[in-house]
Amino acid sequence: MVDLKYIGHSAFEFKVGDKSILVDPFVSHNPKYDYKKSNIVDIFVTHGHSDHLGEAIDIAKAKKAQITAIAEVATYCANNKCKTRPVGLGSWLNYDWGRAIFLPAYHSSTLPDGSYGGVAASILFDIEGVRIFHAGDTCLTADFKTYKEIYRPNIALLPIGGTYTMDVEHAVVAADWLGAKTVIPMHYNTFPEVQADLNRFVQLMQINNTNCAVLNPEQIDQEPAKK
Ligand SMILES: [Zn+2]
Repeated sequence: MVDLKYIGHSAFEFKVGDKSILVDPFVSHNPKYDYKKSNIVDIFVTHGHSDHLGEAIDIAKAKKAQITAIAEVATYCANNKCKTRPVGLGSWLNYDWGRAIFLPAYHSSTLPDGSYGGVAASILFDIEGVRIFHAGDTCLTADFKTYKEIYRPNIALLPIGGTYTMDVEHAVVAADWLGAKTVIPMHYNTFPEVQADLNRFVQLMQINNTNCAVLNPEQIDQEPAKK
């Protein structure tokens, strides 16, 4: 059983037993979230932009957690005295709670010091039989059709805010192509450039008979959604 908590923007916490995994931990955006309460063992970062790398370095140091990221991002974190696992695209990576694979995202990746962050990634997690696809920042891509065939994701975390990523209309197509039963929108309404019509997304998903779970980061203190 994996418990999924939406921290806000593209940040999620997956709880597996007494351990937690953070993805794109831009946690400073949500003052209600306190990472100190969780036993964070692993942190995943899709790319180097500050709204995704977030507070990964501080959290990794405080919790002695490992950061898994594309090599350039991982090297930046290692230079900041973090334990890291540098990776590339396309290979299953094993952990004691399950496995993950980095996949291409059509986006850029620059680190806070302006250096090149390598390729941007989406990340697919396989945790106790539940497959969660975190799209990172990407546009719609026909790759999603292949992911449906190969990985059969159960839950898809999709950006809907547009400007830097896919927008509502494209995320609806992405959900269809990925074939996930549950879709959780992310990367919207946090900045003026990523304003999205959430109701329209929910309506379009209903028409497609896909369960759209809108998670409210303001309710972070409540019980996480059971998946
Ligand atoms: Zn972003």
